[in-house]
Amino acid sequence: MDKQNTISKEVTLEGINVFNGKTNYVTFYPAEDNTGIVFLVKNDKIEANLDNARFYRPLKWLMIPHTIALQGERERAIKVEHTLSAFSMLGIDNMRVILSDGVCPRYDWGVSRIVEELEPLIVPQTKDRNYLTLSSDIKEGDGFVQRGQDTLHVENDEGGVTYVVDFPHKAIGSQVASIAMDLSSYKDKIMHSRPVFFTPFGNKLLLRLFNKFHGIRDKNTVIIGTKRRPTYLNDFFCDGYDKDLLVKHKILDVIGELRLLGNFKDTKFSFEKTGHEFDLYAMRTLRDRKCFVPYEG
Ligand SMILES: [Zn+2]
Repeated sequence: MDKQNTISKEVTLEGINVFNGKTNYVTFYPAEDNTGIVFLVKNDKIEANLDNARFYRPLKWLMIPHTIALQGERERAIKVEHTLSAFSMLGIDNMRVILSDGVCPRYDWGVSRIVEELEPLIVPQTKDRNYLTLSSDIKEGDGFVQRGQDTLHVENDEGGVTYVVDFPHKAIGSQVASIAMDLSSYKDKIMHSRPVFFTPFGNKLLLRLFNKFHGIRDKNTVIIGTKRRPTYLNDFFCDGYDKDLLVKHKILDVIGELRLLGNFKDTKFSFEKTGHEFDLYAMRTLRDRKCFVPYEG
């Protein structure tokens, strides 16, 4: 059986708070066996689990990509999905995460900095890791959740995630990507993929405002122009035009969301055209249908 993991020493990373464009910080601290992932915001301890998770999209920031927050007793930890995605693939079970302003920073090039900084520090602990897997008792159809066009399908298979996007933008269109749940594929294909920003009216002048007030930059965001524009507004910045960037980032997101349920073995998740709000609903639905049971090895 694999052992639980933490890191050997604390690490602080700097990034940008996308809600105000200011520099912010996160510090990762080692934690004891069975602590889980715990965010600390003004001394409020907030456990990373599905019960605490909320879809987060304040009206004031309508133009800013939607995220997931974890609600504590008094405070909340905002935009946690990318951090949890990196933890999931690094196999980190126990960690204390201190956020300087309650929001997980946005970094250049996806979560590659988290992975590169933490991977060399990972240390096994004494207790066994817990995994979930799909129950063999579920009825036909229980592994499928749909609402409008959004679907999530879970099946017993080699573990992994598949995502399908379909946006009526020439730069995106239909995209499909799959990955096995292993760190080398994640490092290779997923961890660098930046979040996407749809520029209102495709207007480059407005982009300056979003740059100033939300810290949206070429290195940290894929910037989409009008529906008719066949490439990204900042594709000059990429190593050529990589059409799959959006679907790869969606995979990064859902791996972080799934970490709120637990770690999985032999379970394949297929998402189609979903967003954070649906994903939380779908994961809760699957859990309530008792789709998942402890993996016995
Ligand atoms: Zn994201």
